[in-house]
Amino acid sequence: MDDIRRAAQLIRSGQLVAFPTETVYGLGANALDANAVRRIYEAKGRPLTSPLIVHVSSPEMARGLAAAWPEAAERLTARWWPGPLTVVVRKQPVIPDLVTAGLPTVGLRMPSHPMALDLIREAGVPIAGPSANRFSEISPTTADHVRSSLGDRVAMILDGGPCTVGIESTVISVAGDRPVLLRPGTIPLSELEPWDEFVRQGPADPSPGLAVRHYSPRTPLRLGLPPFTGRGTYVYWNQPAPAAELVRMPHDPAGYAAALYDVLHQLDKQGWDWIAVEPVPPGGEWAGIRDRLQRAAASG
Ligand code: AMP
Ligand code: MG
Repeated sequence: MDDIRRAAQLIRSGQLVAFPTETVYGLGANALDANAVRRIYEAKGRPLTSPLIVHVSSPEMARGLAAAWPEAAERLTARWWPGPLTVVVRKQPVIPDLVTAGLPTVGLRMPSHPMALDLIREAGVPIAGPSANRFSEISPTTADHVRSSLGDRVAMILDGGPCTVGIESTVISVAGDRPVLLRPGTIPLSELEPWDEFVRQGPADPSPGLAVRHYSPRTPLRLGLPPFTGRGTYVYWNQPAPAAELVRMPHDPAGYAAALYDVLHQLDKQGWDWIAVEPVPPGGEWAGIRDRLQRAAASG
């Protein structure tokens, strides 16, 4: 039996399958089965207050899970699906409360990775899938990253190669009167704003479950120039600085995002005293990367 069919059977029987998407690897379970979804929280060590994104294989499947499908949802998904955009809409009762951390809304995404789409189609059910890593660790962008974080806690890991987008999806709520950007991703903000008066939420008002410290390596990470003590590595895109090792990142936001988590995973294994990261430019194309770096650098 081929891998996708075996994985789909596991999903249908309530097991966990890690699967590739273009953003990061997901830890998948049947989104309609509360017992299966409970296993996700257990495997990740994720608090039950953090809602999960539900992955669909078509806009029709998404509409079937939504209690309301506003004009903004239609417009955004017509433009960005399949792709790295999650829309938050009011949910139908078939979605267990456990998936949405008790919220009346659900985050839905149609990924573009062909293996993810095949898996959802073959399983015939929507798949709840947070990133396939232990809670608060850096998200996985390769099957190896998943193996080293969750290896023995999943029934199967589908290997679809390195993720091409590399950071988590842009999340927009269209459940209220006006669209709200809950989490920036790789979609440039300038591509979103002309259509809607997005209310941008600051770090003081995060999306539910968006813990400030998240996506963190174990090695202390600081944003800015290297400190004077200890041995460490400087991750830069523009201007190198004194450090025991230098890592040069791509100049463009898409290339930078695709490389970021793998670089952090590698460096975290090398036993440095610190990782310093050059701040990225202020523009809206860099918003998702800026957000993840700030979270990775936040202490406590
Ligand atoms: P991830 O950690 O990549 O699985 O993304 C899950 C994130 O999506 C959550 O932490 C929220 O920020 C957001 N999200 C998912 N579902 C909802 C929802 N119903 N309402 C608001 N935000 C949501
Ligand atoms: Mg995550």
